[in-house]
This record gives sequence, structure tokens and C-alpha cells, in this order.
Amino acid sequence: MARTSRIPGFYKITVGERRALIGEVTGVDADVIEEALEGGGLRAETADKFVENVLGAYGLPFAVALNVRVNARDYVVPMVVEEPSVVAAASNAAKMVRGAGGFQAEADAPVMISQVQLVRPRDPAAAEEAILGAKAEILAMADRAAPGLVARGGGARGLEVRRFDETGMLVVHILVDCRDAMGANLVNAIAEGVAERLGALAEARVGLRILSNLSDRRCVRVRCRVSGEALSTGDMDASEVLDGIENASRFAECDPYRAATHNKGIMNGVDAVVIATGNDWRAVEAGAHAFAARSGKYGPLAVWRRDGDAIVGSIEMPLALGTVGGTLRVHPAAQLALRLLGTTDACELGTIAAAVGLASNLAAIRALATDGIQRGHMGLHARSVAVAAGARGELVEKVAALIVEARDITLEGARRAIAALELPAAVELPAAVELDGASQG
Ligand code: NAD
Repeated sequence: MARTSRIPGFYKITVGERRALIGEVTGVDADVIEEALEGGGLRAETADKFVENVLGAYGLPFAVALNVRVNARDYVVPMVVEEPSVVAAASNAAKMVRGAGGFQAEADAPVMISQVQLVRPRDPAAAEEAILGAKAEILAMADRAAPGLVARGGGARGLEVRRFDETGMLVVHILVDCRDAMGANLVNAIAEGVAERLGALAEARVGLRILSNLSDRRCVRVRCRVSGEALSTGDMDASEVLDGIENASRFAECDPYRAATHNKGIMNGVDAVVIATGNDWRAVEAGAHAFAARSGKYGPLAVWRRDGDAIVGSIEMPLALGTVGGTLRVHPAAQLALRLLGTTDACELGTIAAAVGLASNLAAIRALATDGIQRGHMGLHARSVAVAAGARGELVEKVAALIVEARDITLEGARRAIAALELPAAVELPAAVELDGASQG
């Protein structure tokens, strides 16, 4: 079967059938998928090598978003997330975007910032001049601190001096191309490798030596266009929906209270891909929100504008992701995630994560601008409520459908539904739960 991320009816089949189908479209054997995900994708013995005081591993659902097409290439996108409706919402929105050609994306070179703090330089202006004058020497020294990276085509690319005279500090940035690594350890090693020489040049005391998580030299930009026709619902025509989505964007652009929730909806998609691929989501979160506040006022990472009978969305955010290094070396499920995506290029991974973020944002604001968030969200939430009430196997879908129909998505409602279903032929079942949820945000 050709590589595609369009698999109609995928949500209706069993976990085993899904593994087999994903195996076919990605070329990764179903047995390999099963083995990598066995026991939650991480055995206690392996987890024990990651962190300290390990007792075991903590499982989260490993799912795939479908319909994702970025720069004319199809991706089956692994998502690790516990919140119902995030995966369905991203897949639905990606389907609408796909109908108009998919996402267009570009990524900056994978450049991270290494910071060296210099405290109380004798003469800040002279210190700045001396450091800038020694730029070639410092960059060569930086490269010597990361020979493996240089051998792979990465290394130091630039040097900047930032003066904070009022606090008696000077901060030096070394810009480092980290290739396919996230780069935190590499960049930290470089900061430590050049700090002493910088201190001598500045006649200052050396302070902190560490990367910046505001990785704004490593941004990803993704755009998409969706027709009003694809977005319209039973109750609202295309024009109303397009205006509703633009107004939702303008709300986030003027109000940080809304922007925070707008960005949470984006991070639903981004974080799920970041976690699935074994990346550092705290680093990504820190960078995303610092970037969202770069003007001095917190704003949305993605904006939407009506363009005739369509809506155009664009997202820009820093994404420091790796396809090598860190925990990726040993995490079987993270390695599987990258194999399913079919890439080893960290920049490409960034474009995919941002595209899924933009899809999640579209799904959320479309739902908010039309039916409201609760209908789809609670429909999917109903399954976890059914499980919490004791339903197992086939009973889960039946109980979920009943409590959605009764508009009583509570533990008590689910227990009543289970009791009713356990009486033979006592209940007439409503149609299956609609899987078109849009997660909060
Ligand atoms: P790492 O220490 O594993 O370094 C990457 C290694 O991969 C290097 O040895 C490099 O030479 C090698 N490599 C192989 N192929 C490569 C390729 N194609 N491109 C680039 N390098 C290649 O990992 P890292 O990326 O330096 O650091 C990431 C880890 O650091 C994460 O686990 C993160 O959680 C952690 N960390 C984060 C912070 C922070 O964000 N503030 C701080 C400290 C540590």
C-alpha cells in the first residue's frame, strides 16, 4: 500500500487492526509496533536508566493523527496525550486542510542559543569590544567543545554581546547549529567551554553558562487555507463560520486571557507530538510562551484571517526538537514514533508538530465559533466516564452512547446505563457516539 495518512473509518476498528493498517501504510511491521508499545512503551529496567529512584513506568495513550499533509508529503503522526478528543480534532481539521492542498511549512536552521553571563565587567564598553574582536577565536573554541556535532555539519555560527549595564551584567550569546539534536547538552558544553576565556576578555566574573529555552533562532512557520464550505456546519453557513473563526483569532490577539487558552489548544497538538517523539516538552512549552510574549504583551501563536470564501491560518513558534540524542537513544516508543513519521530530520519534525498544532487550533476555534466546545468534547469524554464506572469491552461504546444521548455524562449516569444494559433487551441503543470532538482551547 502507498504511503498515505488518509484511512477512512480508522477510529471504528480494533487496536490490533489499526496496528496492521498503520504497518501497511508506513512500512513498519505490525509486530515491531506491538513490541515497541508493549507494557506502555517503556519497561521499568529501561526507565531506570533515564531518571533516579524509578519504581516503574507511567503509561499514556499512544495514538496517531491521520490526514496530515505537510509540504505535499503525507504523515501518520504519533501523538501521546491523555485528553479525549485531541487526536480526533487534529485529524478532522487536518482533513479539511488536506482538501485544500495541505499545510505549507518552513523551518529555520536548527540554531540554539548558548548564554554566558559575565558579572561586573571592569568597563562594559571595552568588554564588548574585546569579545567582538575575538569572535573568530571564541567560535573556534566553541567548535572544539562539540567535535561530534562539527563532524556532522553543525557547530558555532555566530556571537552576540548583550549589555545590561544597569544591572552590571553582560551576556554573551553563542549561536550553535545543532543539526538533528535538540542540543541542550551540546550547547551547555559549549557555554562551559568558552566561559573562562570570555571572562578574561571582559575582565568580569563568570556567572551562568547554559542554553536559552527561548530558541527564537529555531522557529517554524506553517500556513494553511481552508474553504468555508469545508468548515460550515448544519446550523451555520460558511460565511458565518469564517467570520466566527476570524473573530476568535482577533479575540486572542487583543486579550491575553483568551490568548492563553488559544495557545493551550495549539499546544494540545504540539505537545502530543513532542512527547511521542521523546522530546523535552518543558523546553518546548517554555520557548513557546516566552515567544508568545516577545512583544511585551502575551499573544496568540497562530492567527486566522478570512480571505474571500476561505480562511487562512498561520503559526510561528520556536521548536527545539531532536531526532537523535537525549532519551531518544533508548526509548522504544519514541523510536517507533520517528519510524512511523518516516523522518530523521529535526527541522521536518518541527514542521509536522507545528502543523498538528495549527490543526488543533482550527478544530478548537471552529467548534467554539459554532456548536461550542462541549458537544464534541463531552462525547469523547463519555468513554472515559464509562470506563471509570466499570464498563469494559464492547460495553464501553454502548454506555458512552447512552450517556451522551441522555446528556448525562456523569459516573452516576454511566452506572445507570451499565445496569440498564445488563438487563437483556431492556434498552434501545442510540446511534454511535460521533467522533468529531474538538478539544478545549
Ligand atoms: P545529547 O546530549 O544526547 O547530544 C546529542 C548527541 O547526538 C551528540 O553527541 C551529537 O554528536 C550526537 N549526534 C548524532 N547524530 C547527530 C545529528 N545528526 N545531529 C546532531 N547531533 C548528532 O542531546 P542534546 O540534544 O544535546 O540534549 C537534549 C537533552 O538535554 C534532552 O534530554 C533535554 O531534556 C536535556 N536538557 C534540557 C535542558 C533545557 O532545555 N533547559 C537543560 C539540560 C538538559
